[in-house]
Amino acid sequence: MQTTSLPETAASDALFERAKKVTPGGVNSPVRAFKAVGGTPRFIERAHGAYLIDVDGHAMIDYIGSWGPMILGHNHEAVREAISNALTNGTSYGAPSEGEVRLAELVTKLTGAEKVRFVNSGTEATMSALRLARGFTGRDFIVKFRGNYHGHADGLLVEAGSGLMTNADGLGRSAPSSAGVPHAYASLTLVADYNDPEGLRRLVAERGHEIAAIIFEPVVGNAGVLIPTPEFRAALHDAKRSGLLLIADEVMTGFRLSLKGACGVLGIEPDLMCWGKIIGGGLPVGAYGGRADVMDFVSPQGPVYQAGTLSGNPLAMAAGLAVLSELERDPGIYGRLDEYTSKLAEGLASAASEAGVPLAVNRVGSMLTGFFQAGPVTRYDEAARSDTAAFATWFREMLVRGVYWAPSQFESIFVSAAHGERELDSTLHAAVSAFATLG
Ligand code: PLP
Repeated sequence: MQTTSLPETAASDALFERAKKVTPGGVNSPVRAFKAVGGTPRFIERAHGAYLIDVDGHAMIDYIGSWGPMILGHNHEAVREAISNALTNGTSYGAPSEGEVRLAELVTKLTGAEKVRFVNSGTEATMSALRLARGFTGRDFIVKFRGNYHGHADGLLVEAGSGLMTNADGLGRSAPSSAGVPHAYASLTLVADYNDPEGLRRLVAERGHEIAAIIFEPVVGNAGVLIPTPEFRAALHDAKRSGLLLIADEVMTGFRLSLKGACGVLGIEPDLMCWGKIIGGGLPVGAYGGRADVMDFVSPQGPVYQAGTLSGNPLAMAAGLAVLSELERDPGIYGRLDEYTSKLAEGLASAASEAGVPLAVNRVGSMLTGFFQAGPVTRYDEAARSDTAAFATWFREMLVRGVYWAPSQFESIFVSAAHGERELDSTLHAAVSAFATLG
């Protein structure tokens, strides 16, 4: 197998060595460490449009987009201006301000949620929505799906790898997937399989009366892209009959797949939704919202406590407003993202096939995963069968050619409005050579 050596990364190497001395693993979020793919993570100096420029001066076509937020591309003029303008008025008040009202008005108008509450991250949004669901229903159990990720709150770090299912009939309580998560917390999280409508129906039939909420990614990005089948979506809807709340985690898909998120595209009607990433325009924002009768259970109106020193931060509100306003002003953006990403999907599939490399490409709008296997991939256990070693080699071969892909087989990539013909051509050109090294 002929592989290409990585270009000079002396400045990133030096920073990584320093970082490892003062930060666990040298990074502030695990997947940034390139552990699954090898090599030194690139330290970024600046970003513009579709490109990241690292501290060694390499310009790379960016398919991570800060893991989703940068739908307009990096350093977008309207967003930069909005943040600069807000900055002249100070950085944080700890008191309400107009930006919060304007962003809440826009989010409710676009998504159909009746009320929203802003927090600082996607993790806070899902954690708060679940507390609210428990407070509203008076029930303790929640259901999540294997391979779905909802942030790092204790009760959600429960993924039920195959050995962790405890009930023989598959109605799963599972063990924690992180050290430090008490088994007592994990035992309140029931784990089911995504795209297994019968399994979900059985679980709800048996335990529905104890379940406060089902939380789910309406299109999965965190096992790689998985698309919910119509039967699975119907089972989710039918589950509502037992009095539980459906919580759509749109942290990744919200404002990415449409102004109404994945639920809008797929016709799913959740009781609550969670947002993050795009809603903050690249600054730290999360939100949860939905039915007014449920949201009115949140303090100070209701008995479910949730608060935040920096929640509704004026700079973050300004950035979120700028991005959402831009998306609303130019709804054709979603068609262009779709067109780019569908050409990317076709190009990858044909490059892989020419090189004799099995590749199953899953794509919705501007989210895409190429699973290194023959496919089809609709479920978590199928995704898990991918050839991660082949992916890692391919990732490094793409990086050396200036394409910054997500450094794990089990992630979606994100295309931005700043990606154009030039980036598509360069990416596919790189992909042909990268697949050839595997053939
Ligand atoms: N929910 C989903 C679907 C996510 O993809 C993520 C993060 O990737 C989160 C929640 C957590 O968001 P954050 O990293 O902002 O805490």
